[in-house]
Amino acid sequence: ASSRSRSEQLYQDALQHIVGGVNSPSRSFKAVGGGAPVFMKRGQGAYFWDADDNRYIDYLAAYGPIILGHAHPHVTEAICRAARNGTLYGTPTELEIEFARLLKEAIPSLDKVRFVNSGTEAVMTTIRVARAYTGRSKIIKFAGCYHGHSDLVLVAAGSGPSTLGIPDSAGIPNSIAHEVITVPYNDLAALEAALARWGGDVAAVMVEPVVGNFGMVMPKPGFLEGLCALARGNGSLVIYDEVITAFRFHYGTVQTFDGLPGADGAAGTADFSAIEPDLTALGKIIGGGLPIGAYGGRKDIMAQVAPLGPAYQAGTMAGNPASISAGIACLQALQEPGTYDRLDKLGAALEAGLAKSAQRHGVPLTINRIRGALSTHFCDHPVTNYEEAQDTDGEQFAAFFRLMLEQGICLAPSKYEAWFLTTAHTEEDVAYTLEAADRTFARM
Ligand code: PMP
Repeated sequence: ASSRSRSEQLYQDALQHIVGGVNSPSRSFKAVGGGAPVFMKRGQGAYFWDADDNRYIDYLAAYGPIILGHAHPHVTEAICRAARNGTLYGTPTELEIEFARLLKEAIPSLDKVRFVNSGTEAVMTTIRVARAYTGRSKIIKFAGCYHGHSDLVLVAAGSGPSTLGIPDSAGIPNSIAHEVITVPYNDLAALEAALARWGGDVAAVMVEPVVGNFGMVMPKPGFLEGLCALARGNGSLVIYDEVITAFRFHYGTVQTFDGLPGADGAAGTADFSAIEPDLTALGKIIGGGLPIGAYGGRKDIMAQVAPLGPAYQAGTMAGNPASISAGIACLQALQEPGTYDRLDKLGAALEAGLAKSAQRHGVPLTINRIRGALSTHFCDHPVTNYEEAQDTDGEQFAAFFRLMLEQGICLAPSKYEAWFLTTAHTEEDVAYTLEAADRTFARM
């Protein structure tokens, strides 16, 4: 096995200065047995190199944004151009209009958009806007869906479907948690019960239309339609958190996803394009690897936002030319014909190989895949909601994760996270990964 002594040293140094040694808890190895995370220093295409010069095939893709691989030339050029022109003016720019147009062409429900700096900000603001528009205070969300780290969405389920939430983090008052109702994903009856109990207070139902935060989990047929009908029947808005899903499966979002092959594991295809949310939160891929978020939706709802309306939201860095330039360049590159078919093909090869190998070695494995994104749950049951995702073997995942890492394959250090393919991955990368996985399953 290759040495990671420099990473270990850097981790000790980092612990002296940076809380927990990491700038996001998901980067720590706490969930996979602890110890030093790998410190990366350079990325190119599908690979990155750590501080000890070990090379890894990257399936983390920075938790999603790096869909073109590292240092994609078109994106890099756009960022350099922006840097040469000055990265921040505090004034509007023409670039922002160009980017807003690009997004609106791909996502018709966005009558108006606003750029912010992260997915967290985008989601947080959609909630404020929904509250302003409806004059109501509560939101309903689904268990296990992650919507960033703002107070309202860091709330877990109470003890039943019709109870109020409990804080998922210290520092969140119960008074705030009590504004949130959490119900199981893919469970319309639970949503209906929650609306029956809290209906007149519910400003919005917030959902990851395809879940990316406890594996890749598809909505069951009728779930999104039912969710929208129930919410609207109750006068509540529907907010799609498409921070992970936007531009992941095709050039667009889940709400514009119309029967792509393999979209529904059971039926072969799925069509979500008949349903439109009132508000959508975006992030990750749309920034081309620089910090970004965006939200948008119906014109009359977005008219709540300052300076037009009474709901305040602002940002010194919002819409900065560097992030916007990287975003435009990323979407341009993704428009190249065949992009998503390629991701699908690589994803299918990865899925088939992993499934075959796990079966041969008697390792129970449930794979959920949508095009170039797939999740591997160590269990022998389907994963359609958070409870099923929790009921999987974390120790087995940790062993798998570490053995793969030793062979130069980098996954996210969490049993819940997906693998993300990029346009830079090749068939050889996948073949190498499958050989490593086969050796790994054999040792488990
Ligand atoms: N929503 C979803 C669905 C996410 O997956 C994430 C981040 N993983 C966020 C919101 C928050 O985005 P950010 O980390 O950019 O604040």
